[in-house]
Parts: sequence; C-alpha cells; structure tokens
Amino acid sequence: MSEFDLIRRYFNWPQQDQTIDQALIVGNGDDAAVVSLTPDEALVVSVDTSIAGVHFPEDTPAYAIGHKSLAVNLSDMAAMGAKPRWFTLALTLPEADHVWLQGFSSGLRKLANMHKVSLIGGDTTRGPLSITIQIMGTVPKNNAALRRNGAKSGDLICVTGTLGDAAAGLACIQNRLTIPHIAQDYCIERLNCPSPRITFGEKLRDYAHSCIDVSDGLLADLQHILDQSKVSATLRPENLPFSSALNTLPVEQKTELAMTGGDDYELLFSLPADHLNIAQAAAVDTQTPITVIGQIETLTGRQPELNLTSGNTLAHKITHKGFNHFQDHSNTP
Ligand code: ADP
Ligand code: MG
Repeated sequence: MSEFDLIRRYFNWPQQDQTIDQALIVGNGDDAAVVSLTPDEALVVSVDTSIAGVHFPEDTPAYAIGHKSLAVNLSDMAAMGAKPRWFTLALTLPEADHVWLQGFSSGLRKLANMHKVSLIGGDTTRGPLSITIQIMGTVPKNNAALRRNGAKSGDLICVTGTLGDAAAGLACIQNRLTIPHIAQDYCIERLNCPSPRITFGEKLRDYAHSCIDVSDGLLADLQHILDQSKVSATLRPENLPFSSALNTLPVEQKTELAMTGGDDYELLFSLPADHLNIAQAAAVDTQTPITVIGQIETLTGRQPELNLTSGNTLAHKITHKGFNHFQDHSNTP
C-alpha cells in the first residue's frame, strides 16, 4: 500500500461526516488546506505531540491513542475558551499495520465528529510511532480568549470533573496501585480516553478571569496561573472532587494523586465570587460538574505562594516530594 492509499483509506474522511464546513475552502488532498475566517473571528492555534512510552503506555489500544491524541489538543482549545474547528495530523508510523490504523483512525474520527472538527491535512512518514496534531479554533474578536494571566485576588479557584483518576489508572497499569476491578477499569478509561471540556470552556470565556487545563497535575498547573497572574493562592485539599473509584483509597493517597497526578484534562479556572452562580448554571447546562477548591490571594513576597489548608501530614509529604516552594500552613489556624 502506498503512502497515498494509506492517507485516502484512513485519513481522508467524507465531508458529510459533519455538518458541511462552510469555512473550509480546500481540504485534504492539495499541497495545503485553505480556510476562511470572518472579520469578527480570531484564530487560536496549538500543537501537541504524543510519543509511545512517553505520553501513553506502549501497549495502549490504537483506538485510545487516536482518541487521546486529539483529546489533548481539544483540551487546549477548551482552556482558551475557543471553539475548535480544524486540525492537521503529522503521523510517523513504524509500519502500515491495518489493524492498528483502523483502530487509530476510528478513535480519532469519532472524537472529531463529536466536536465537529475537520481533519484538513497532514503528513505521513515512517519511523518510531509519533503523533503530532495541530489544532485550530476560533474566538470572537470582541471577547478575548481565556488566559493564564488574569487571576485576581479574591477569585475563587474551581475545577471541573474529578482529579487523580488518570494518574491512578497509570499506577494500576504499572502495578504500583491495587484497587477494585471496576475502579481500575474506570481509571484506565479516564487515562486513555479523556473528555475535553469544550462546551463548558466556551461558556467560561464570558466570566472567568483565568483558565488552564490540568495536564501536568493540579499543583503544577495552578502554579502556572499564579506565576503568570502574579498572585498567591490557598488550596483546600479537603474540598478536592473525587470519583467513586478514587474514594476506594485512603484520603492521603487519593489527595496526593489528585494534586500531583497528570493527564486528567479537566479545566482549572478562577472567577470572581459573584460569578459563581452563573458558572454553576453553565455547569448544569453542559453537564460539567464544578467544585470550588481554593482562593486567589494578593502576592505578598516576591514569589507567588501556594498555601495548603490541609490539617494533616499531607502537605509535608507533598513538600518533601519536591514541591518545596509551596508553603505549608497546616499548623496555622
Ligand atoms: P506534500 O508532499 O505536498 O506535502 P503529501 O504527500 O505529504 O503532500 O500529502 C498529500 C495530501 O494528503 C496533503 O493534502 C496532506 O495534507 C494530506 N495528508 C498527508 N498525510 C495525512 C494525514 N496523516 N492525515 C491527513 N491528511 C494527510
Ligand atoms: Mg507533506
């Protein structure tokens, strides 16, 4: 099978898959794709590479690799409050394995259809498995994208969904964690097939001050917001949202997973307290649970500080794990 047959067979999807994309002028098959933008739209662009053994375990099912490669890119659009529109796929494959390609392309296509994003081009080469997706979305020009740098003192810190599930799934796969079978299946599914919070992210654009998606772990990603917004924060570990799968674990273990584990692709955002009602209404509308987990505070020293209110030994433990720039206020009232 030639490279061109492979592209035609697995990555040249019929337009009727989706509502016809009026803005797509030239799609897959030419030297480049052409899309048209209206004068009131701004383009939002992001790219992410997924490598076997680094971003997903080597034996991850092809379907899940297809899903996750696009999901992580869609999650970046969600974090910007953008509407995802188009993507390109640069695929490096060790061989043209039809069973693998079938699984991969159907995982990718199903998620693309669900969010109405079109695959408009790409590149196919031979080598160690690597998947790079560039995603393009839009925001209205008069309503800027959500940023990491807008958090203000007094803002509530909120997160969508539940945290720590993907990290627990990875720990199960790597035999570092034993939990009941149903809980394990749930966590591995969350690791392999994250659900980007697209519809909620778009609504958040109207009233959140800052937003990021949780890809590296709650503490690490919240730190990005603090650094860029030049603010401090207090986080309440006792308020973290857990799935029933994680609730099978002791409180310290699940809290540590939620704070330091990556790959959840939930949205972490800050908003003024008087906008919480409207965010909660949007959460119900889009079936996206949200939880208040802390508060943004004024910067007192030179560096942003992340304080934990936890009254147990957890904060010490996490401090000892290398997060030593976080001040432990567990002994202060
Ligand atoms: P060129 O050599 O001009 O870069 P290619 O032979 O790489 O063109 O690709 C031919 C067409 O197929 C292009 O329109 C390209 O966008 C598309 N294409 C190549 N690989 C992929 C892929 N993995 N997914 C989607 N489209 C692809
Ligand atoms: Mg090319």
